[in-house]
Amino acid sequence: MPVTAAAPRTHWSPDFDALRRQDPELAGLVLAELERQSTGLQLIAAENFTSPAVLAALGSPLANKYAEGYPGARHHGGCELVDLAERMAVDRAKALFGAEHANVQPHSGSSAMLAAYAALLRPGDTVLAMGLRYGGHLTHGSPANFSGRWFSFTGYGVRRDTGLIDYDQVQALAREHRPAAIVCGSVSYPRHPDYAAFREIADDVGAYLIVDAAHPIGLVAGGAAPNPVPYADVVCATTHKVLRGPRGGVILCRAELAGRVDRAVFPFTQGGAQMHTVAAKAVAFGEASAPAFVAYAHQVVANARALAAALAAEGLSVTTGGTDTHLITADVSGLALEAATARGRLAAAGIVLDVCGLPHEAAHGLRLGTAAVTTQGMREPEMARIGTLIGAALRGAGRDGGLRGEVARLAAGFPVYAPYPGHT
Ligand SMILES: *Cc1c(COP(=O)(O)O)cnc(C)c1O
Repeated sequence: MPVTAAAPRTHWSPDFDALRRQDPELAGLVLAELERQSTGLQLIAAENFTSPAVLAALGSPLANKYAEGYPGARHHGGCELVDLAERMAVDRAKALFGAEHANVQPHSGSSAMLAAYAALLRPGDTVLAMGLRYGGHLTHGSPANFSGRWFSFTGYGVRRDTGLIDYDQVQALAREHRPAAIVCGSVSYPRHPDYAAFREIADDVGAYLIVDAAHPIGLVAGGAAPNPVPYADVVCATTHKVLRGPRGGVILCRAELAGRVDRAVFPFTQGGAQMHTVAAKAVAFGEASAPAFVAYAHQVVANARALAAALAAEGLSVTTGGTDTHLITADVSGLALEAATARGRLAAAGIVLDVCGLPHEAAHGLRLGTAAVTTQGMREPEMARIGTLIGAALRGAGRDGGLRGEVARLAAGFPVYAPYPGHT
């Protein structure tokens, strides 16, 4: 159906039938992806299932609004209502995390990190962050990323015997390299960082402390992980991981850094804010303030502990011996398997997770998390079942396709979204 100036006006609400009529090919992809998400086990540690309310805000006419600048100081007219939406998101984020200031405009976690560096550093400055092979993120100094190109990164690691951050090493490296900033955060570290220790080390050398809480911020919101806000100069986070909001970033900081952080987001590193996403962040922060989210966050951790124990019983070697968070990393070499082969066997069974580097090992391991399956309503008994299914798939039991059906039956017992009418 061609869109013309005379096209009939339709209701604005996210209307999947409109997409099916306009673009059946793309609509078919959406339905197939919905089916993929709901018939397998989504164990990618950074993923979750966001609520229908968040999806409705994302599919709203706020997507049409240009809003460069900040509430009350925009470069465009007609921003009165989106200003209110952004103020709601900011106020809810500040209240949720006890922060003096929040910027809810970063398009992603990486954009938030870019803005944090832009707010506090000059190109060429030295930064101390977790080394990439130990669990640092691309934005922590990868040569393939702006961070590694524009700043001089030094990496700290984890102890060979325990897998835990070695704070003596962090302090020694800080004293040796005198970084302008220290970054605390990881894509795979399954334990709580000692934010007070990082603060002390940063103060000792006069460095800023940037906490990249992209992964644990949802646990923080639910009171299931320590809050870095009182310790950090700037906290960067994503809104789409355990926090369960729309894809995006958020920055929290003290009032005195508010102006620098805001200017670093707009106009320095971004243009107009995505007001539909900002509104969806407001919805997600509201959801995360409710008692049900406290229960959710604690169940995420309980599930991760149960799953880690189940994986250990299947012969995987769990890094640090367990987890305090939603994250698990595990070595599969005890099963005489390469991580890539392991991921392939699991994928064939409908179990989706990542491969990641392992500290002090040449081999890669598996990285998984429990945020999405917990949103589905799964609890400890299902984690034990998932551990058994993973063990069976890794031993090659799924090669006849038998496990795929079992995984689908387990997932079908915990539906996330109502099926689309007429779609089977
Ligand atoms: C996920 C993640 C990011 C980046 O988030 P994107 O939204 O993918 O840009 C940054 N830092 C850490 C530690 C992360 O885990």
